[in-house]
Amino acid sequence: MQSSITVRVPAKVNAQLAVGGRRSDGYHGVASVFFSVGLYDEVTVTPADRLRITVAGTDAAFVPTDPSNLAAKAALLLGARYGIEPNVHLHIDKGIPVAGGMAGGSADGAAALVGCDALWGTGADRSVLLELAAELGSDVPFSLTGGVALGEGRGERLTPVPTAGSFHWVFATAEGGLSTPAVYGECDRLRELTGGSSDTEVPVPATDPALLEALRTGDPGALGAALRNDLQAAALSLRPALADTLRAGTDAGAIGALVSGSGPTCAFVAKDAAAAAALAAALTASGTCRTARPAEGPVPGAVLVRRPLVPAPNGPVSRAD
Ligand code: ATP
Repeated sequence: MQSSITVRVPAKVNAQLAVGGRRSDGYHGVASVFFSVGLYDEVTVTPADRLRITVAGTDAAFVPTDPSNLAAKAALLLGARYGIEPNVHLHIDKGIPVAGGMAGGSADGAAALVGCDALWGTGADRSVLLELAAELGSDVPFSLTGGVALGEGRGERLTPVPTAGSFHWVFATAEGGLSTPAVYGECDRLRELTGGSSDTEVPVPATDPALLEALRTGDPGALGAALRNDLQAAALSLRPALADTLRAGTDAGAIGALVSGSGPTCAFVAKDAAAAAALAAALTASGTCRTARPAEGPVPGAVLVRRPLVPAPNGPVSRAD
């Protein structure tokens, strides 16, 4: 019997986040182009006498260790589906900014689904994992799949977007997070000032063909020009200093800049790896962010990085993969 499973899961940035009006159920329809990038959390699942969460990494203190943690919810959901007591220790090593608009909690939910499935040997179909992921939250299915995908509905209905090659991003993190519901609320408030915020008053969210073309052809300049986030004005309204971060990145040579999701992380596109490294250094030195890190994408979604240790038929213990 094996002792633990580790799953690595990436962050996302929305290369486009078009937000429709507030619906009667309180949600907003979106057309989101999710883009997975190489900033990672790792979730390690180990058998335990009860469900337990521990968290390490920057801002770990702001991550709940009670049943509200999305990784705990994932273990409970998968266990309920297969009649298994979710007695596991979930250890989360955070590399994704917390409350940073990069779907860190969703990533951990997806990783816990994959990790518990592997540990318990439930062998859940991909379609079942995706269904459970959508129950956990609108961004969780994309954390499972990774790559680049168009998300519709609340973001959970995914269609893969053909993408050529790799793009170079830089992510500037901020001190303190922004609450996603607060940013949507501010978006509604700003829209009320100019014509209304309901789904009959705001155009139906749609994808920009120029963005899809930039991704299809692997053109970083065109990607940078096509970035769009309908939540950006709201994030800037709640955190005006983010305008300085965006400006610092553009002044330092970024070919595209936007607030990532609900913020406050700011995302920049660079033309290649060398430009991304230089841009990250310039942003860190600018004093307008906590730190800036380069990351490439797209990358795959939640994947096992450590398989059970098994004895080889006639030899030493080796990894199963
Ligand atoms: P999104 O982009 O999906 O809106 P986010 O990236 O802005 O989310 P998260 O890092 O997911 O933000 O954190 C949002 C809140 O979710 C946190 O303040 C925290 O209270 C809660 N949360 C629950 N589970 C986790 C988790 N595993 N990691 C981080 N935050 C979590």
